Amino acid sequence: MTFFSKPSAHVCPNPVEGKAKILYATDDPEVLLTHFKDDATAFNAQKRGSILGKGEMNCAISSHLFQLLEAAGIPTHWLKRTAPNEMQVRAVKILPLEVVVRNIAAGSLCQQTGLALGTVLPQPLVEFYYKNDGLGDPLLTLDRLFLIGLATPEQVETLRTQALQINVVLSDFFQKCGITLVDFKLEFGVNGQGQILLADEISPDTCRLWNQAETDPKQRVLDKDRFRQDLGNVEAAYRQVLERVLAQPISP
Ligand code: 5GP
Repeated sequence: MTFFSKPSAHVCPNPVEGKAKILYATDDPEVLLTHFKDDATAFNAQKRGSILGKGEMNCAISSHLFQLLEAAGIPTHWLKRTAPNEMQVRAVKILPLEVVVRNIAAGSLCQQTGLALGTVLPQPLVEFYYKNDGLGDPLLTLDRLFLIGLATPEQVETLRTQALQINVVLSDFFQKCGITLVDFKLEFGVNGQGQILLADEISPDTCRLWNQAETDPKQRVLDKDRFRQDLGNVEAAYRQVLERVLAQPISP
């Protein structure tokens, strides 16, 4: 496996470093370079670690899923994969929102509502969280979202519609992989023309993915919950997702 500590080429100074990725400007103001790191964090970065090969695996999984979504008519920021852990993306202004879609109760939904882990929801639930580490990414009401001006009502409608469309495409795709898409987090950005594009990444870092071949609640976990909950075999779980995702063609 090849490891890249530096971006491949043609990048400008002043990269923006996040918890899992580094964003570099390029010679073209409309194009950015995303470098995926092996670093892993959880619980608002109170837990830190590293998952060997995660950068390359998440870059490959994300690239495949962005192409799948583009083919299904969802506009995304993805342009091309330029190295094992790098992809070129369209420059967008990220909306400070985390859009979470849930099909099955897990994580904070169980903690905050008392629903039992694994409860199948009668219909997908779309939630908006304030992307703000200082405030701990709180769950928003729509009134609060509008009060602090995080998006317009039209943008929220677009986000909700696209999130539900993305859920249909991804759930169907993961089903073919023998994986249940429990829930996931999306981020969106606005380009220079005011169009909303799906941004960030789609990977085991941002989705809950359960192996349909396992019934044990710990064994079935193929996502970052293995890291969050110290379940072990984190790299192997990510690699299983990678192999199953890449084995499925983008168009039916
Ligand atoms: P929960 O609200 O249950 O913690 O998370 C719901 C879903 O969104 C999970 O798939 C989780 O991985 C994803 N998610 C929510 N917030 C974040 C975040 O700040 N970072 C990442 N990587 N994923 C998140």
